[in-house]
Amino acid sequence: MNKKLTIDQLDLRGKKVLVRVDFNVPLNKDGTVRDDTRIRETLPTINKILREGGKPILMSHLGRPKGKPNPEFSLARVAEHLAKMLDKPVRFAKDCIGFEAARGVAELPSGECLLLENLRFHAEEEKNDAMFAQSLAILGDVFVNDAFGSAHRAHASTEGVAHFLPQGAAGYLMMKELDYLNKVLNDPARPFTAILGGAKISGKIEVIQNLMKIVDSLLIGGGMAFAFLKAKGIEIGDSLFEPETLEPAREILKAAESSKVEFLLPIDAVIGDKLEAYAQVKMVPADKIPAGWRGLDIGPQTAKLFRTRILASRKIFWNGPMGVFELTPFAGGTRVVANSLAEVTTGGALTVVGGGDSVAAMEQFGLAKKVSHISTGGGASLEFIEGKELPGVAALTDAP
Ligand code: AMP
Repeated sequence: MNKKLTIDQLDLRGKKVLVRVDFNVPLNKDGTVRDDTRIRETLPTINKILREGGKPILMSHLGRPKGKPNPEFSLARVAEHLAKMLDKPVRFAKDCIGFEAARGVAELPSGECLLLENLRFHAEEEKNDAMFAQSLAILGDVFVNDAFGSAHRAHASTEGVAHFLPQGAAGYLMMKELDYLNKVLNDPARPFTAILGGAKISGKIEVIQNLMKIVDSLLIGGGMAFAFLKAKGIEIGDSLFEPETLEPAREILKAAESSKVEFLLPIDAVIGDKLEAYAQVKMVPADKIPAGWRGLDIGPQTAKLFRTRILASRKIFWNGPMGVFELTPFAGGTRVVANSLAEVTTGGALTVVGGGDSVAAMEQFGLAKKVSHISTGGGASLEFIEGKELPGVAALTDAP
């Protein structure tokens, strides 16, 4: 993909800067912000615009309100939270287009920013409707996209809007994410290892096929490993399994056999009689999971094997936990992977963790600062690593 214009190349003075941010943050039951990582990561971009005398007009989605206004998904509380983080007033517009938005922009004094209400209160956002994109575009003079986590979706605020403004540039968070992920793809350091986990394999089949073209080792854990074990004819008890993934899993195994990529599956498992913290727990070889039991983590032998591979690698990309790490008895495998990643980073390897759950795991173990880069976009980072073009990036103006 061509190099894109960055915020550093924009003349921001006196400009209304329409910024797509990713404020899709987890909320507490009372609507307050539980984890403000995504907001914090965008502060450099917002502060730059304010410093240079521009007016930031921020737009984001939050949750899945399904195209209709719903107070549960209002960004109003996020505006309050942002004001505290910026230590500056943040204005809020009750709609992201139309009269409320236009009035918010017209009344915005310099030195303050405006947050527009949830983009997904309009069904047109996810449909990338051109009229809707145009209604957003008229609010700004230039466009900045800092929402890496949404860049793999061609929505009105990430893709469509860029066509209706003279300049579209990457913000600092977007630049940082692309920079690290480009390094993962292009840095000649080898071996390159990808670790994939998480609940399901569906939706990740293409990812696995594409990763096999670029990595030296592919380590598979989490619920998705059971599709492969089953495809090998192994009984997996009551472990997670989607029948429609059996055939694609067989194909991947066949492709792995004829490729040079080392394709590692769990050789043992931590199994439970139910998915609960107080389940009965046993460790068994991967081909000895009894009926009525389910595999809920990779076993110690697998963890040891994965650790050895990780420590021997120079570039590592990790997406998805190795087990149900939210429950202590099944967190061991994910912890070993997280610790190994931290250790190999100290030794100079390039390590990138993408995906909400693996990031949450790194945080749970206090290791988030010990890897080269934690990506704010799970889906977006996977698609980028696969070599797909991200529509939210492609739509930005090419750098001169
Ligand atoms: P994903 O959204 O696909 O990345 O999946 C993340 C979730 O997968 C986490 O909440 C884990 O608890 C869950 N998970 C990981 N391993 C397993 C497993 N063996 N069985 C069921 N769920 C799992």
